Amino acid sequence: MHRLVWIAALTASTAADALPAQTADRTAIEAIELAKRSIGFRTVRGPGNQTPQFAAYLKQQLVAGGFAAEDVTVTPVDDTAYLVARYRGTDSAAKPIVISGHMDVVEAKPADWERDPFTAVVENGYIYGRGATDMKLDIALAAATLVEMKRAGFKPRRDIVLALSGDEETTMKTSAILAEQLRNGEMVLNIDGGGGLLGEDGKPQYFTIGAAEKTYADFELSVTNPGGHSSAPRKDNAINQLAAALVRIGSHRFTPQLSPITKGYFEGIAPRQTPELGAAMRAFAADPADKAAIETLAASPAYVGQIGTTCVSTMVSGGHALNALPQRATANINCRIFPGVKPAAVMAELEKVAAEPAVTFKDVTEGSNPTDASPLRPDLTAAVKKALAGIRPGVPVFPSMSAGASDSMWYRSVGVPSYGVSPLFIKESDDFSHGLNERTPIDNVPLAIRYYRSLLADLSK
Ligand SMILES: [Zn+2]
Repeated sequence: MHRLVWIAALTASTAADALPAQTADRTAIEAIELAKRSIGFRTVRGPGNQTPQFAAYLKQQLVAGGFAAEDVTVTPVDDTAYLVARYRGTDSAAKPIVISGHMDVVEAKPADWERDPFTAVVENGYIYGRGATDMKLDIALAAATLVEMKRAGFKPRRDIVLALSGDEETTMKTSAILAEQLRNGEMVLNIDGGGGLLGEDGKPQYFTIGAAEKTYADFELSVTNPGGHSSAPRKDNAINQLAAALVRIGSHRFTPQLSPITKGYFEGIAPRQTPELGAAMRAFAADPADKAAIETLAASPAYVGQIGTTCVSTMVSGGHALNALPQRATANINCRIFPGVKPAAVMAELEKVAAEPAVTFKDVTEGSNPTDASPLRPDLTAAVKKALAGIRPGVPVFPSMSAGASDSMWYRSVGVPSYGVSPLFIKESDDFSHGLNERTPIDNVPLAIRYYRSLLADLSK
């Protein structure tokens, strides 16, 4: 137990909305307990998936905390389930604020971990376990805050809906169902996105609001030839034709793009980079056609994806015998498409670049949904800045675009703006989401609760 850490953080508070220390402390203790138990459910897709049991446990906790039983539903889908908990507001005509998260986690093999991934441990100021970062602590914090608000008799004007999917890490079937059900939402607060960065010295650096995601796409390239004996080669060789196309695609660069979100992002992080990289970010933010800036950013694996669409070869196979002309050669090109660009347009550009009529292109993408960025709403930005100012004063806030997909994609695709706004701050060196020995600093807990209380009160008005 690290109560001392929380109490230190709580007494440092000067926020006007701070509850009496013992109330907040109680919520922090409940959130930690909830997170530890949550991590204990092995919510991994496949045999033994405990997502339905985890959902039932969360429902029981929410109902015990003051939610009406009929306002918390758990719906099974295949081997998983999704949960919807509605905190009723005073104006049933107002569109709800949706808090989005996911209950499932990525597989973790106990043999590879220092500790059992499904037995949460609080140690050295961290909570350890699969889901400690992605994202059971986030769920516990949001749920504990909602329960605290219920206890305090808080009445929002809008409904606040906690919507937890059960397969975000895999098929996203429940994510799509939830978005469809909640398409009348005012906005989505995705607590699995955005968030804060701690420097390696432990000092908060900045906070980003996730407002866009790149679109994931897979294109299959294939060439078929009649084949034949390898002692009688012909000019048209399926492997050579495919290889030539892949080389041309490999050296192609899509026209760099800038959006209000990436502009804000580059301007925000530029001061924290090496002078060369920082200057390139500022120059690109001012003029996305700046050649020198493009060269510098394109050479950085961390930032090349922020300046436009990227496509790379990820798989290749061909031929069927050592001594036969290949009858078939195929490759996969994986693309991360800039928001607002249609996958069909990217595939057409690749076909043009490949300039190889024998190569057939096919969009084989599964489970992706092209979406535009969510507009940066002033009410959202103001509420996030205010909530953060209460817990991490002076920390800069700016937007970000994620290279990966989350449940936000499904909400955006049905027209509901979605924002990554997780209050957790972690160091880059502590980010083990999807990896080994996942952990999150526990001193986030009381701060996150105060953040949620402020954010939810403001946005549900
Ligand atoms: Zn996640």
